[in-house]
Amino acid sequence: MHGYGGKLLYVNLTLGEVEKRELTEEFAQKYIGGNGFGARLLYDNVRTGTDPLSPENCLILAPGAFCGTPVPEASKTGFYAKSPLTGAFGEAMAGSSIGAELKFAGYDALLVRGKAKGWSYLWIDDDEVSVRDASGMLGITTSDALEAIREELDDPGVMVACIGPAGENLVKIACIESDFRQFGRTGLGAVMGSKRLKAIAVRGTGDLKLANPKLMEKLLAEWYGTISTHPHAIADIKYGTGEFISTVNEVHGTFPTRNWQDSVFEGHRTIAPQYWVPKYSVKTKACYACIKPCGKVFVIKEGRYAGTVVDGPEFETQYSLGGCVGNPDPEVLAKANELCDELGLDTISAGVAIGWAMECYERGLLTPKDTDGVKLNFGDGDAILKTLELIAYRRGVGDLLADGVREASRRLGRGSEAFAVHVKGLEPPAYDARGLKGMGLAFASSTRGACHLRSCAYAAELSGGWWKFKRVDRLSAGGKAYVATVENVMTLYDIVGICKFSRHFYFVEELPDFFKAVQGFTLKSKELLKLGERAWNLEKAFNVREGLDRRHDTLPPRLMNEPIREGSSKGSVITREELDRMLNDYYAARGWDRNGIPTRAKLEELGLKDIADDLKLG
Ligand code: SF4
Repeated sequence: MHGYGGKLLYVNLTLGEVEKRELTEEFAQKYIGGNGFGARLLYDNVRTGTDPLSPENCLILAPGAFCGTPVPEASKTGFYAKSPLTGAFGEAMAGSSIGAELKFAGYDALLVRGKAKGWSYLWIDDDEVSVRDASGMLGITTSDALEAIREELDDPGVMVACIGPAGENLVKIACIESDFRQFGRTGLGAVMGSKRLKAIAVRGTGDLKLANPKLMEKLLAEWYGTISTHPHAIADIKYGTGEFISTVNEVHGTFPTRNWQDSVFEGHRTIAPQYWVPKYSVKTKACYACIKPCGKVFVIKEGRYAGTVVDGPEFETQYSLGGCVGNPDPEVLAKANELCDELGLDTISAGVAIGWAMECYERGLLTPKDTDGVKLNFGDGDAILKTLELIAYRRGVGDLLADGVREASRRLGRGSEAFAVHVKGLEPPAYDARGLKGMGLAFASSTRGACHLRSCAYAAELSGGWWKFKRVDRLSAGGKAYVATVENVMTLYDIVGICKFSRHFYFVEELPDFFKAVQGFTLKSKELLKLGERAWNLEKAFNVREGLDRRHDTLPPRLMNEPIREGSSKGSVITREELDRMLNDYYAARGWDRNGIPTRAKLEELGLKDIADDLKLG
């Protein structure tokens, strides 16, 4: 098979067993890679009702199918597990080189189960796989862990994915750090911590064979030129992912502010990259195989936060540790971002959790007695930085926030559930869905909880149209069934591992050529969409088996009860009727029943009869 390492690697940390299984052609062609492999392996290997932090949960690493090949922007690799934050399908993707390295070592996916006797790291050195002692690394930050492992293995080129103190302390909003990128969402750092696994280190010296190297050469010549001169690439290279922050504040009025109480942040100009890039950014940074570096390295040379160096902050962090906590100070933003990366915290969930705690504090539901004296007022930089540390070490109020806002509001009660902003337990990204109603549906329908990347529907909602969906009215609940199609497209991107920012340059129509060049598969774009649809239905089936249905495809009370207070989306809200209408249209487009459950006919059409049988569908 072309474009594959050829094996699947299974590691049982409890038993200290390593098993290598052949990647069959049937499995590869049906599920392709990335989310396709992740969703299938998770469904098959994690039983219903498994405690996400128990040894029975599996942590799966599956690179996109094009990872390790020269396909432009093919950087994305996924971690998968049952999420401790949501109790549902857990997934986190990042543009780390570890995926390509794993394939160079000969493996198209890694599945880790069990729990090590003591703190360990997994060392994959081509054919040699071992579990090594990491007890000396306990408590250290992610960058220190990377350095320690590379020093111990005496190889500065070893690729590492690791957790910080947050993952060790089973913080349910902990991320996995790798290659200065973060596998941020759904708390998979805690799953790694529950296995006493500080890191996974990989060295691969093999090569991937392409089916058609001549075609690849031709495609590269064509696409490198197109990408490097595209206006979107030029803008992203200059300012990174947050270049449109002023537009979403001033034109759309959809930038969630102070725990989603407001939707326009008066301090947006100073957290916008147009302000901080000329002052603080020293260079750009790219993920693996990317020719459009959107990472901005932010360095603070003097003052209170001198010594801060961080890759970012990206748009989502400008929201979560900027607008959502009322912070207009770019230096506090950069320092908070650095702390999250070093301690191993998801910046989105951490910022939303702090925003919720700040609202509790200002309403008198939390007092200085509850917060170790920290004055949790919106915009207080010291409070933001201190609280991040408290969360990572589960100290004081940090212990309340460490399990995310759903659990924190359950524990605190006293009406705080009304302004706990999450979907299925996952804190949302930077799109106020009240003014972008398709994003409301996308939050509700996403298999991993409130998410922007599983659909990228914001692209259609903010611009009034995208791809073949030419007219999208962001303030209407009508015409939103398109979300199902774009979910399938974006899942396809997650299957092949192409960065979603590539949607500006080449789209589904162009992917068959890359499949031909890498694997030799001849697929039409309609068949490609089926690949995305199959993986999405598998993810959904995992959630259905866990007992999730229409009741869980919902939105936080704030988005349904409190109209936007100011700005160009003033007065907009998503009513129960509107959400029901969007869900009905969406389920119909997906071929699911009205309770949001995939039908047997749909699963059989996707070649998933065994899943329909397992779910006992009629
Ligand atoms: S565009 Fe940005 S996020 Fe995407 S692969 Fe390139 S550097 Fe990574």
